[in-house]
Amino acid sequence: MESETKHSTRKGSALVIVGLLLLALLGFALTQLMQAGGSGELVARVTSHDEVVAVMPLSQDAQYVVECEEGVNTVVVKDGGVHIEDADCKGHDCMKQGTIDSQGRLLVCLPHKLIVEIVPSDGGINTPSVYTGEELVGSSTAADIDIITR
Ligand SMILES: [Zn+2]
Repeated sequence: MESETKHSTRKGSALVIVGLLLLALLGFALTQLMQAGGSGELVARVTSHDEVVAVMPLSQDAQYVVECEEGVNTVVVKDGGVHIEDADCKGHDCMKQGTIDSQGRLLVCLPHKLIVEIVPSDGGINTPSVYTGEELVGSSTAADIDIITR
């Protein structure tokens, strides 16, 4: 009788430990999920002349042709990254910038006033990005371009 009680007590505490472990795992999983949900899916946001003309999820291969007075850029999303496939600007500097695939990175075509940047899909257009500090993306990137052009 006595030994049976001890046995069941030990079994009980083992169950508690297993339960706690499960809870910890569940908590960990939930945290991961929330983090994933919080940062959202990454998208390539294409801005032409300070206007957002396209938002392309990096998870989906796609192509977008941006036309403006100065010329044409072909923005391509492929294998989770984005690059400028083709452009008729002088020097093709935007094409030479290669592929970007992480948040906060950007491609710029100065002659065409085109910016391709990677942002979280749920970040909205007005979410300040890491590299721009506190100002809104639109105004500060325009300022950056002015500085670079000079
Ligand atoms: Zn270019």
